[in-house]
Amino acid sequence: MFKFLSREPIHDPLATPTPLAATEVKTTTCYMCACRCGIRVHLRDVGNGPELRYIDGNPNHPLNQGVICAKGSAGIMKQVSPARLTQPLRRKAGAERGAGEFEPISWDEAYALLTERLGRIRATDPKKFALFTGRDQMQALTGLFARQFGTPNYAAHGGFCSVNMAAGMIYTIGGSFWEFGGPDLERAKLFVMIGTAEDHHSNPMKIALSKFKRAGGRFISINPVRTGYSAIADEWIPIKPGTDGALLMALLHELIASDLIDHAFLKRCTNAPQLVVLDEGAREGLFAFDPNPEKGPPGDGRHPHNKLVWDLPSRSAKAAYPEGIADGCDPALEGHYTLSDGTRVAPSFQLLRERVASCTPEWASAITGIAASRIRALAREMGHTALKQAFELPIPWTDAWGKEHATTQARPVAFHAMRGLAAHSNGFQTVRALAVLMSVLGTIDAPGGFRHKAPYPRHIVPNYRAFNSPEMIHPNTPLNAAPLGFPANPDELAINPDGSPIRIDHAFSWEHPLSAHGLMHNVITNAVKGDPYRIDTLLIFMANMAWNSSMNTMVVREMLNRKDANGEHMIPFLVVCDAFQSETVAFADLVLPDTTYLERHDVMSMLDRPISEFDGPVDSVRVPVLPPTGQCKPFQEVLIELASRLKFPAFTTEQGERKFKDYPDFVVNFQPQPGIGFLMGWRGKDGQSHLRGEPNPKQWEMYAKNDCVFQYHMPEGMHYMRNWNRAYLDFAKDKGWRQRNDPVQLALYSDTLQIFRLAALGKTPGRQPPDHLRARIATYFDPLPFWYAPLEEAATDLAAYPLNAITQRPMAMYHSWDSQNAWLRQIHSHNYLQVNPLTARAAGIEDGGWCWVESPWGKVRCLLRYSEAVEPGTVWTWNAIGKADGAWHLAPGADEARKGFLLNHLITEELPFGGGRTISNSDPVTGQAGWYDVRVRLRPALPVEPEESFPQIATVPTAPGVAAKAARVLTYFAGRKP
Ligand code: SF4
Repeated sequence: MFKFLSREPIHDPLATPTPLAATEVKTTTCYMCACRCGIRVHLRDVGNGPELRYIDGNPNHPLNQGVICAKGSAGIMKQVSPARLTQPLRRKAGAERGAGEFEPISWDEAYALLTERLGRIRATDPKKFALFTGRDQMQALTGLFARQFGTPNYAAHGGFCSVNMAAGMIYTIGGSFWEFGGPDLERAKLFVMIGTAEDHHSNPMKIALSKFKRAGGRFISINPVRTGYSAIADEWIPIKPGTDGALLMALLHELIASDLIDHAFLKRCTNAPQLVVLDEGAREGLFAFDPNPEKGPPGDGRHPHNKLVWDLPSRSAKAAYPEGIADGCDPALEGHYTLSDGTRVAPSFQLLRERVASCTPEWASAITGIAASRIRALAREMGHTALKQAFELPIPWTDAWGKEHATTQARPVAFHAMRGLAAHSNGFQTVRALAVLMSVLGTIDAPGGFRHKAPYPRHIVPNYRAFNSPEMIHPNTPLNAAPLGFPANPDELAINPDGSPIRIDHAFSWEHPLSAHGLMHNVITNAVKGDPYRIDTLLIFMANMAWNSSMNTMVVREMLNRKDANGEHMIPFLVVCDAFQSETVAFADLVLPDTTYLERHDVMSMLDRPISEFDGPVDSVRVPVLPPTGQCKPFQEVLIELASRLKFPAFTTEQGERKFKDYPDFVVNFQPQPGIGFLMGWRGKDGQSHLRGEPNPKQWEMYAKNDCVFQYHMPEGMHYMRNWNRAYLDFAKDKGWRQRNDPVQLALYSDTLQIFRLAALGKTPGRQPPDHLRARIATYFDPLPFWYAPLEEAATDLAAYPLNAITQRPMAMYHSWDSQNAWLRQIHSHNYLQVNPLTARAAGIEDGGWCWVESPWGKVRCLLRYSEAVEPGTVWTWNAIGKADGAWHLAPGADEARKGFLLNHLITEELPFGGGRTISNSDPVTGQAGWYDVRVRLRPALPVEPEESFPQIATVPTAPGVAAKAARVLTYFAGRKP
């Protein structure tokens, strides 16, 4: 018995543990955030089945090497959370959505209900079913389900998260940060982190940063807020939100003006020397080509062949490859030239040089708030480190054109960026500017720079074409293209003959042509408006759309309950699958209780988002270490069951029988191509093949025996320069990671963007945007990066709302998931608005005082904290700590609801667009939600006002099956009796 005021230690580390019961340690993969570290789960059999006692990091795991964070070890409290849903629920007849009044039903009833409803939709108009998911880690399955259903209305959370980062980088260098690539801190000397939140690439980044700092590396953080990783930076450079693009353009200006650029790299590995047509017409701004039919058609973004360079020694145009890179040829990076047919051309680098000419440090200083002298010094430091402190590794390799290189050139400047750049309506072009900056320094897949992770680099443009015609949607028929993709030209847009969107979220339409991750944040609004049509059923998995995953939370909540003239909900049927009683669950017509990550099989697949390392591919799995709680079922099993009942072709044998027993069976036996499956380790009947091979019925066993992870070490000659590395390109094609083995030339100049722009200018035949979108496309589809003010500023009185407001995830919680976690709630039970003391005092608000934050779109009342770690023009808070009262099974009146607040109430989902129209408050290229663009002002709350956050939500009642009380408090006294 624990004795208060006793000197006896509650945990005596020297005491001999009393063996109370058999203990067992199982390995699996963490899912307390998206990092996917390897963990060891310690279980003890207390007589009525295994009990979870402890979680620590797996020292044998390549990703985290035994490191665990606060969230990861608190998985035990997620497992025993009182907020868990435990049985399928149906909204009670007559109950209002949002009231949270449910009745339990059986899985048989739930499956029957869904099979009947989805079967009817699929047999009539498949696009009336929409599937949108949050941070799910199995998009290869959810995407396949949507495609087999025949609906284009599918996406995950990327449009709300960081699609600007993914698309901006992939359309420029063929890869991106986090899962797909990152900074080589082992060899870098300078590390510049710009716009990265607390926990992106969490444990691996912490491990790498600590080694980097110990080795004497210099770490500069550019961010409006100095928290998380920035706290250990050697230098913090505060910047105004949404202005990073201006800084990057000025850095390019300085590097080019000072000739601190990697000429040889630019000429051989990028499209910098390729000649761009300057004459007006259908080829204006595209790359010049040789009209000789033997040379083939002009190249485009996806097929970068038949392009020209200007050879300085011979003063003539030559084919870019292979002549342009042959010994003796010296392609020009500058100048203007005339081809033999009179066409005026210039190397694309000349156009970049002209573009950045006016982007002086003084120009950027006025926008970013960073002194011009600091920008100049930063450019110098980057350039000198990349070029003057360069070194070579003794690693020979052969490039795609057969040239043998005795060594590998290092460029020891590494960058990392994420949502701080991405979550703005100017984010795509900002990320393009970063990718171009990294390229002119020669850092792409070079030691010490940015390194890809398999299966990246992809082609520029990746060979995933989304569906592009309403003719492709047929009853009871799978789509013959994926719902998501990377368009290379207007023919690949998902539009009707009149140019209007086909998809419910308007993704891949002229409004947001390159929306590679969809626009989850627009689904509910568009469906309720019937724009472009009404849907029947919306299935949401693991996304809190009625709270922190919508920009305008209160309006979305109202819309979910809105009815038409017949009294039917505008979205007639809403299915929510979640493990916890989130705010969104209360609005569901049908609730499907998901398992936790400790209760299910899962795959981190090369077909989706693996956990590859720089030196080779890595995939991993989760295996159940505990039985499901109550009647919970993994969502994967639900999809397999529904796909089988609905007889999707990929899930049905030729005899019409069910093809896969369950999800593990599906993972082992499903092959999108012969020999390629969801998992790459231990393939082949005998389990001896890796990467490619026949299905192995014992594959799960092998993963379970091997710490749930498979790592493949590529030979050293394939570790670098993979955009152009012959051995790697051949290997990657053979393993199914890419369709062709041609090199991936970096697109400093994007002819892909120019193709869209020419259509908007009416200069090319074929698909053209509706008139009201022509100027938008022509402006933002600029083939060269540029900075423009976030679009919301045009709709905002900047004098009245002088401050930027941003929100970020705390290191101790993952989105809204962890407010139900008893341990993590002790770190954050409510959030503050963090404000520089200068700003707060000017507004007359005391440290710790209540204040109002107002934007043009809404207001919140919250607690304010003084903080020197934020620049004076920005205010910020933690995301998703504030909760609706009663949600997540928090006690009514809990701090999360009474003191916590959500910044989303201040954000608008749509902006005015002229002529009475509105348009999504998103990046005009990718559709990334511009939720970091909001402008606000502050005022003190009045003493007579209640000391609670605003708005308050009516208490959500506890759903049936949700634990009525907290689980028994777990004590862990080194073997003593609890
Ligand atoms: S960083 Fe922490 S929460 Fe995220 S996967 Fe790793 S251990 Fe789990």
